Amino acid sequence: MTIFLRKLPESSKNFLRPIKNFMMKVCYYGHKRYCPVCGNFSRKFRHFGLLPREDAQCVICGALERHRFLWVYLQKRTNLFEKKPKHVLHVAAEQCYEQTFRELFGQGYLTADLHNPAAMVKMDITNIQYPDQSFDVIFCNHVLEHIHNDILAMSELLRVLKNDGWAILLVPITSEKTFEDPTITNPLDRRDAFGQEDHVRRYGPDYADRLRKAGFLVKITKSDDLFKDNEIIEFGLSQGKQNIYHCTKKSTNV
Ligand SMILES: [Zn+2]
Repeated sequence: MTIFLRKLPESSKNFLRPIKNFMMKVCYYGHKRYCPVCGNFSRKFRHFGLLPREDAQCVICGALERHRFLWVYLQKRTNLFEKKPKHVLHVAAEQCYEQTFRELFGQGYLTADLHNPAAMVKMDITNIQYPDQSFDVIFCNHVLEHIHNDILAMSELLRVLKNDGWAILLVPITSEKTFEDPTITNPLDRRDAFGQEDHVRRYGPDYADRLRKAGFLVKITKSDDLFKDNEIIEFGLSQGKQNIYHCTKKSTNV
């Protein structure tokens, strides 16, 4: 049903989505799992991934582990949901957040993508077409691992972030140390080396140092910092563990 829906035009998707959600609620009826993004309970989450992870994806909104973790982080540790107008740049917008953000920020919300025509603007984040300090909040998750000059992209995101703004810049951490090799260009070789055909590197925990090199102050939050043991299970966060990288401008820029 979900794969079938993806191929339909947006108008048809909007018409069929409530039917699909109702069917999913019936099929996955239960209260062992809770998705904070859409606020629905279910018996379990659905498997997801090339090497499928069980209990990973919300059957209603499609949120994965990292989306559920970030959502709770945003609720508990940021000013995102305070009723104050914001300019929010959302690069490669995650579908499970997009509608809520559109309603929340209205005219202040901007989705951007280099390849996806559904985004509001086409944007190369190594050369952003907006002035300095344009945005209060920036989301750019699981994008930088696709970009050759990621430090330049980070610098551009820093430039368009307001001095008192913040950015969430997540990447998959899949290596002991960041590894990149620009001579690897064949998609299959990239898949072997970097885990996906369109990735150009694997990041390690030193990712935070790259963000700092670009000029960000970085605060790292682990899921264990935010959730009790029973919540880790209920929210389905025991797999696909990631850190939140909350980035702000260096005090010299403020
Ligand atoms: Zn959900």
